[in-house]
Amino acid sequence: MALKPQPAVRQPDSAVTQRLVTHRRELHAAPELSFKEVETARYIAGRLDALGVDKLTEGVGGTGVVAEIRGERPGRCVLVRADMDGLPLTETADVPYRSTRAGVMHACGHDVHMAIVLELARWLAERRHELAGMVRFVFQPAEEQAGGAKLTIDAGVLDGIDRVVGLHVWSQLPTGQVAVPPSVVMASADMFTLIIRGRGGHGALPHLAVDAVVIAAEVVTALQTLVSRETSPVAPVVITLGSVHGGSAANIVASEVVIQGTLRTFDAELRRHLLARIAQVAEGIAGTMRGKSEFRHDSGTPPTINDPAIATLVREAAAGVVGKNAVVPWEPLMVGEDFAYFLEQRPGCFFMLGGAPEGVPVVHHTPEFRIDERCLPIGFQVMTAAVLRLLQPD
Ligand SMILES: [Zn+2]
Ligand SMILES: [Zn+2]
Repeated sequence: MALKPQPAVRQPDSAVTQRLVTHRRELHAAPELSFKEVETARYIAGRLDALGVDKLTEGVGGTGVVAEIRGERPGRCVLVRADMDGLPLTETADVPYRSTRAGVMHACGHDVHMAIVLELARWLAERRHELAGMVRFVFQPAEEQAGGAKLTIDAGVLDGIDRVVGLHVWSQLPTGQVAVPPSVVMASADMFTLIIRGRGGHGALPHLAVDAVVIAAEVVTALQTLVSRETSPVAPVVITLGSVHGGSAANIVASEVVIQGTLRTFDAELRRHLLARIAQVAEGIAGTMRGKSEFRHDSGTPPTINDPAIATLVREAAAGVVGKNAVVPWEPLMVGEDFAYFLEQRPGCFFMLGGAPEGVPVVHHTPEFRIDERCLPIGFQVMTAAVLRLLQPD
C-alpha cells in the first residue's frame, strides 16, 4: 500500500498571519521573568487545550507547558521547543502592544517563538489524520537564566524523542532570511566566582599581612594567558572578569577579593579544560603568594551544536520556503542558549530566523529591542516544513 504523503506547507493565509501577530502581541504586552511565567503558561495551556491536543501537562520544570499531537500513522517523534521568559528591562518602543509591566520586557523575542510554535500546534492538530509520527511541544521556562531547559529535560520531556528542533528570531539578520548552522550555533556560557583570601592588616605594615588585592591582580592578568598562551589561536575563547570587589579602605590590607567572570567557547572539551585551568591557575598563584583561592562554578550552558545531518534536512526545508538564496551562512555567536542541553542529548537543529526591524538596528537584551513582525509567517512556515521533514523516516 502506498503511503499517503505528509501534509504540505503553503503560503499562510491571512487568518494564520493574524493569529500569529495577535498571539505575539498579547504575549509581548504581558512579559514575565524567568521561572515566573505563570500567566504566560496559562495563556499557552489555554490555547493548546482549545486545539484538542492529545496530551497537555502544566508545571513542567517549574512553569513549563508540554503538549503532544499524535499523528494517525506511525513515524518519528520530534520535540519542538519554545522559550517563555522576558527580561528585567523597561521597554522604550511606543507601540500599542508595548509591555504593560514596568521593568519586564520581551527583549529577546521569546514571544515570537511562542506565537510560532502555538500556530504550528494548531496546524498539526488540524491535520492529525494525515500525519505520521508524534510532535511534542515544549514551552520551557527560564531560558535567560539557562535553567529551564535542564529542568524540563530532568522532568522527562526527551523520553521517546528522536529529534529536536528550535528557533531564535534574530534582530541582526534581515527579515526574510534564515540561517541554519551546520554545526556550531552559539557558545558555551559559564559563570564563575573566584574568592581570593589573604590576611588583612595595616596598610603601612604589609609584611605582617597577605594582600588579597595584589594576589587578585596577578590572577586577573594570568587568566588572560589561558586564552593567549594555552589555547590554539584558531579556537575562539573569551574569558571576561566582569566584577572584582575587595577591601574596605585605602590604608587597610584587604583580606578578601571576589572576582566574577564568564568563560565562552565553541568546544565542549576546551570548555572543560579551561574551567579546570581557571581554578588551578588562581589556586597556584594564590598559594605562591601565601594566600588561597576558592573556585565556584555558578552556572553554565554547553555550546549549542547542531547535528550536521539534521541541519541539512532543516536547511532544505527552509530553502523550500524562503528560497535557496535566503538561507544564509551563520557566524557562530559568543552568546549562550540553553537549547544546547536538548542538542547534547538528541540529534537536532537550532535555526535563526531573520527579524531585523526597519530603521535603526537594534540589539537583543536592550530596552529598544524590536522585531519585524513580517518574520512571523516566515518562521511559522519554516518551522512547519522542518518538523514535517524531521518526522519522516529517511
Ligand atoms: Zn536572550
Ligand atoms: Zn533568547
